[in-house]
Amino acid sequence: MQKLANYIDGELIAPLSGNYIDNYNPAEGRVYSMLPDSGTEDVRVAVDAATRAFPAWSAMPVDKRSALLLKIADLIDRDLDKLVRAESTDSGKPLAQARRLDIPRAAANMRFFATGAIHFSSEAHVTGSDAVNYTLRTPVGVAGCISPWNLPLYLFTWKIAPALAAGCTVVAKPSELTPMTAFLFSQLCIEAGLPKGVLNIVHGLGNKAGQGIVEHPHVSAISFTGGTVTGKRIASTAAPMLKKLSLELGGKNPNVIFADCDFDKALETTIESSFSNQGEICLCGSRIFVERAIYERFLEQLIKRTRSLVVGDPLEEKTNIGALISGAHMKKVLGYITLAREEGGEVLTGGKPVKLSGRCQMGYFVEPAIIAGLGPDCRTNQEEIFGPVVTVMPFDTEEEVIAAANSTNYGLSATVWTENLKRAHRVAAHLKSGIIWVNCWLFRDLRTPFGGMKQSGVGREGGWEALRFFTEAKNVCVRL
Ligand code: NDP
Repeated sequence: MQKLANYIDGELIAPLSGNYIDNYNPAEGRVYSMLPDSGTEDVRVAVDAATRAFPAWSAMPVDKRSALLLKIADLIDRDLDKLVRAESTDSGKPLAQARRLDIPRAAANMRFFATGAIHFSSEAHVTGSDAVNYTLRTPVGVAGCISPWNLPLYLFTWKIAPALAAGCTVVAKPSELTPMTAFLFSQLCIEAGLPKGVLNIVHGLGNKAGQGIVEHPHVSAISFTGGTVTGKRIASTAAPMLKKLSLELGGKNPNVIFADCDFDKALETTIESSFSNQGEICLCGSRIFVERAIYERFLEQLIKRTRSLVVGDPLEEKTNIGALISGAHMKKVLGYITLAREEGGEVLTGGKPVKLSGRCQMGYFVEPAIIAGLGPDCRTNQEEIFGPVVTVMPFDTEEEVIAAANSTNYGLSATVWTENLKRAHRVAAHLKSGIIWVNCWLFRDLRTPFGGMKQSGVGREGGWEALRFFTEAKNVCVRL
């Protein structure tokens, strides 16, 4: 069985303990490879390598750093088919989605920050004829980047690309549940000639390898994407050490549909925002609010369209909904369906495990579910389920829907459907979400700030925000 390796100081190496963790193929429900069960000693070796590599990497002219990152992007493009298959196998997501979204976006992340760093500039302030102040931006040092399993290579590169482009060296940990594409990525870094120690990838469990990165005194900044509970744990370790922190956490996102929307477009996109990647995207709109005038018609069409989605083998092109990430996660999602019923909700379609035949007979498949009859305050509508489950609620007024949309502890993203431009701006301004889409979903311009409010996180990624995060701003005052 294939054993993945850590990527430390330019080499692919075994964990010091010699211990490995089973890596499951969620569509088959069986182990298909093994990943290093790294501990704090492996992290220490990785941080030492990153510390040694830092002076040369941070001093390298930015166009040379950029060229190396662009080369890695080209290698991702070259290996598109291999990476797409690996991502689908490792995470259970449909092959078609990995080809359309995950892997192209990983290459785009590398390109975006490789070129962005060249244009990154800082400010100068002339204080009359007395002084010139300028802002000197220097890389923070060794950065720790920790990423989740739902968009594995996409989110891994979203963190490491700006860190490397800014001149930091990195110790990164992908999710233990989806290590494969990060491993393949380490091979591409070697092929591209990335200097040793610049990027180090330590595989393993969050509470060992992940915690080891957060605790290490020489790791100056932590960029984390994952669940809110883990984010709080990381903050409780890193904050007393006064580390820079960027936390991209969970969401319970509202999808607000007014009666004056483009009905067909809203319906089509709502299918995507509800069930893409099996609902395992932090940005999925899991609470759908529909203005009463179109509620019945919208719901009827939503149910019809949802029933036509194909739950199946992720490797088959016609599949819309693949496997959930793990047996434990499937149990959690099904537990929320039970909870919704206990809270008085009616499951209008889906919500049952799907038993496929052939190689996928042991896989973790769940029918996409639509639940009605619940108010905004119940647990089903307050807690992140992170699966193919949405609730639908009617509303009468703009004020009422804004209050309901804002009623959770989360504040990551929201979607608004209306053809009334004034209302679109007004509602967007009142929604307590870091990202608001009007008449679209998941459309991303990588230059824009990305991040959540409330329990959805602290800090912003994307564009200059990310390059600022991985650099320190020093004010240099020159007296004239
Ligand atoms: P987790 O919080 O469980 O894990 C995220 C990463 O942190 C994993 O690599 C995990 O390792 C690691 N980790 C766990 N414990 C620690 C620790 N104590 N110290 C350091 N690292 C640790 O999230 P999931 O992987 O389950 O991802 C799903 C969550 O991510 C959802 O809540 C989703 O909303 C959120 N998310 C947020 C996004 C955003 O941009 N706001 C985008 C995508 C997802 P291991 O896998 O070994 O546990």
